[in-house]
Amino acid sequence: MSMFEDIPVEVGVIYEGERIRRKNMQVELGGPKQEHKFELARVKKLEEIEDGKITILGPDIKDMSEGSSNPLGIIIEVAGEKLEPDLEGVIERRIHEYTNFIEGVMHLNQRYDIWLRLDKKSFQKGLNSFVHVGKVLQRLFKSELSIVEKIQTTFITDPEKIKDPWKESLEIYEARDAKARGLKDEEVDKFYCCSLCQSFAPTHVCIITPQRYSNCGSISWFDGRASARVDPKGPVFEIDKGEVIDAEKGEFAGVNETAKQKSLGEVTKVWLYTSFGYPHTSCGCFEGAAFYIPEVDGFGVVHRGFKDVTVNGLPFSTIADSTAGGRQVDGFHGISIEYMRSPKFLKADGGWNRVVWLPASVKERVADFIPKDLVDKVATENDVKTIDELKTFLKDRSHPIVETWKEEPVAIEQAVPTEVEGEIPAEMPIATVPQLPITMGGYKIILKDAKIYAKKVIIRPMKGEKLGGKGK
Ligand code: SF4
Repeated sequence: MSMFEDIPVEVGVIYEGERIRRKNMQVELGGPKQEHKFELARVKKLEEIEDGKITILGPDIKDMSEGSSNPLGIIIEVAGEKLEPDLEGVIERRIHEYTNFIEGVMHLNQRYDIWLRLDKKSFQKGLNSFVHVGKVLQRLFKSELSIVEKIQTTFITDPEKIKDPWKESLEIYEARDAKARGLKDEEVDKFYCCSLCQSFAPTHVCIITPQRYSNCGSISWFDGRASARVDPKGPVFEIDKGEVIDAEKGEFAGVNETAKQKSLGEVTKVWLYTSFGYPHTSCGCFEGAAFYIPEVDGFGVVHRGFKDVTVNGLPFSTIADSTAGGRQVDGFHGISIEYMRSPKFLKADGGWNRVVWLPASVKERVADFIPKDLVDKVATENDVKTIDELKTFLKDRSHPIVETWKEEPVAIEQAVPTEVEGEIPAEMPIATVPQLPITMGGYKIILKDAKIYAKKVIIRPMKGEKLGGKGK
């Protein structure tokens, strides 16, 4: 008898990566419309768990109206002789993988950002209760992780009953993250690699180091180690750091080798501490994204929960599209919030000295990790709404980035009296354009994320015009 014979839909790895569009969805759980959403794993004592128990607090799927958006909390409680609380983060992250195995269920993101959709076809086939989802999770956890001996699951959809456990979950995540701080990348020989999101972005893997938390913010170096120990053939595995090729940018031979292997040659180098050149790739479930603002030569960071447009007029979704999909895009960089607390945060780009804009809620969360003399110099949506306002703000507050502008606004007549020619290294693009339309022979060709290479660049002044500096 199949392990899932009593489940009305198929369950299997082929359903991972399914996208469910709004028009096809029966219900949405969590996601951007809901404040209260979370998933949490807890390790308990064997006697505290009633194996196989599934509790639903609030309306079940069949009680939700078609097309509705609902809060959701998922609590997985596990017990086993060899299970330790250190494994909670790892077990929790498997919820993403296993839920996505269910035909017609899409699970995105993690922790307090979860976003699920159930499609109409699967609902019509009978997938209309959290009991089915709970049973699948429980059976997969036990079969895939033999150290899980007992498991009970709770789904919370009641808008009132979810509030306290949601708040408690935020405290638990913070305590977990705090525990993982302190260890340095230089102090270890092994890093960890996670390939869980390859079903969504086949060329992406996360490289998890003590000072670079996973993009989704749910796997620390310690979690990676715990996961690789209990399931060495699983999606999170150990890698040799290898030779340090560039300590400043964060380039390591072992990381390059792993990225190359896992991306089937698509990604050949990864620079862990910079957003330029060969930045760490991003799948789609990063907590936030760092984005370069050329007008001020600085970085903004926006997180998934930010509903407004950022200072450059783009919402999170557009910025996320520019960085997702396992690519390396100059100046765009998927990151976790915890990475912002790391001394290696965009280190090769200037670290916090290069950050000019953040949503107020993110600034509040990481304020203790921003150098004291910089805290008031980084703008939020409450200070500025446009790039022009941002420039004024940065000047008024003497942000260190302003110092770098001083070299720039030179009249071209002085700096370049006639014409300047420059040879460009073959591997260096002269420009990266998110979208480049070309019209040719009656067709419009759109190149996405185009990198433009040129053998030579000629800068020629136009009569009567001055070259504006990048900071002006
Ligand atoms: S974002 Fe990275 S660490 Fe998180 S699940 Fe995906 S691949 Fe793994």
